[in-house]
Amino acid sequence: MRRIALSLAAACALTGCAVSNTPYPRPITTTIAPPLQNLPNIYASAPRAPLHSELFACNAYGSNLGLIGQRGEATNYTPYIDTPAGPLLRNPTEIACLSSGFGYRDTASGGGRQHNGVDLANHDGGFIYAAADGWIVVADYRNGYGNFIEIDHGNGVRTRYGHMAEFDSNLRSGVRVTAGEPIGRMGMTGNATGVHLHYEVLVDGLLVDPLNYGAPRPYVTTPVTQTYQEPLPVAPLEPDAAAPAPAPTSQTYPEPVRLQRPD
Ligand SMILES: [Zn+2]
Repeated sequence: MRRIALSLAAACALTGCAVSNTPYPRPITTTIAPPLQNLPNIYASAPRAPLHSELFACNAYGSNLGLIGQRGEATNYTPYIDTPAGPLLRNPTEIACLSSGFGYRDTASGGGRQHNGVDLANHDGGFIYAAADGWIVVADYRNGYGNFIEIDHGNGVRTRYGHMAEFDSNLRSGVRVTAGEPIGRMGMTGNATGVHLHYEVLVDGLLVDPLNYGAPRPYVTTPVTQTYQEPLPVAPLEPDAAAPAPAPTSQTYPEPVRLQRPD
């Protein structure tokens, strides 16, 4: 360095560099994320999300769990949320039970408090997966959410994942993720009293209920107004029984031309 400075001074002495004491404005610094190194880690080799056919309540005492069946199953649960961006995983965890639903829930101190997502709990932790293809909006620590990831799936659909123990260190704003890709592990960072995933779904900026939004429409029987003709009588099975008469036809066909066999 010193050698460069000396050689610059020597060059200036020879050529006559203009010297000014005017302070230059500092350049505007922009924060540019360093290029991804795609560090090998547990997420690179972890299997993709399983598709859970059912979701069970952790216990029957939650105030906002929604409809719970006799086996403890969330009766409205289906594996996918149908959204304008396509299907999202409704339970993007390795394995979990439903510990809290969307909407007002009773608090220990009394009264209710709005809960903007669903809580999917497993005290043993486990992987958290991207609910669908998308781009990382945020992968950072965010106050009450703790370790937090938000994914933009396009068409106004976003998903949020809170309280994670950690997330894949390769994830940052703008990174592409694919459906079912492991992105982090369940934890209780931020404002959480137990190990769980706080899962939020946004559609056009509005938080929707991840357990009920985009569910298939319930099957409703509607009265049949159309009348059908009486079924045709079934032909008896006896081999010698007369076959049903062929349906009459008004169309007449010409007799087929019989070819003469040459002698
Ligand atoms: Zn929650």
